[in-house]
Amino acid sequence: MLPELKDCHLDHVAIAVSSIEARIKVWQDLGFVFSPEREIVQEQGVKTAFAPIDVHGHIELLEPLNAESAIGKFIAQKGEGIHHLCFKVSDVKAKQMEMQAQGYKFIYSEPKLGAGGCLVNFIHPKSTGGVLIEISSGRDHA
Ligand code: ZN
Repeated sequence: MLPELKDCHLDHVAIAVSSIEARIKVWQDLGFVFSPEREIVQEQGVKTAFAPIDVHGHIELLEPLNAESAIGKFIAQKGEGIHHLCFKVSDVKAKQMEMQAQGYKFIYSEPKLGAGGCLVNFIHPKSTGGVLIEISSGRDHA
């Protein structure tokens, strides 16, 4: 048995896709089972689809609602692919302050409401060697 990471575990791997319905097959063919619901997060201009990986982790497909959204711009610049990794922490604000004190830059000055009603913030990829890292309070439902 591997020990649980202290106060931090993988919540989801987010993948930018131009069309959820076109790309979901890859993951379904691997064996992932997606919830039939598609969540629209208007504020972020995305449609999302979730499938569990294990008790904690999910695959999240992110489809832009328009070209001006962050995911729309990401796909225009870099193409489809892995967009960010999200780790669940017990206290998003506390973790943000702890990491900011060490010089890490965050995208938002305060945690925001994300998909599934969780509080989230993102560590800027310039602080992490190119990886966009989301920290989240986690989803209430599995
Ligand atoms: Zn995410």
